Amino acid sequence: MTSDCLFCRIVAGEIPATVVHETDATLAFRDIAPQAPVHVLVVPKAHYTDVAELAKADPTLAGQVLAAGAAVADTEGLTQDGFRVIFNVGEHGGQEVFHVHAHVLGGRPLGPMVSS
Ligand code: 5GP
Ligand code: ZN
Repeated sequence: MTSDCLFCRIVAGEIPATVVHETDATLAFRDIAPQAPVHVLVVPKAHYTDVAELAKADPTLAGQVLAAGAAVADTEGLTQDGFRVIFNVGEHGGQEVFHVHAHVLGGRPLGPMVSS
């Protein structure tokens, strides 16, 4: 738990979020500014800055985040038509919250993978 980390505070229940899936190690909740009809963030409950740090430190937990994302896609009805999973990393990746999170997006065709 990092007290000044937004997603640690959501995991701790200090900041409200609309939770759609939870395991012992992960939490999934709706993005506050959705970019698609379904836009869910999946985080490990433990604090890691980004997916590279997580993968290096705890590959099992990284797999649990991916499995939770797949479960969310299933329960949100995205599996048949498809969906996108994004990890933004660092400045060029457009990362704004430095607690690793997978974006699970779907519910409409999502267009090109990058905007420019
Ligand atoms: P990033 O740019 O770091 O990959 O994505 C951060 C995401 O967190 C953004 O899509 C943003 O809308 C979302 N976000 C920022 N603050 C909050 C919040 O307080 N609650 C929720 N549910 N999402 C947030
Ligand atoms: Zn955190």
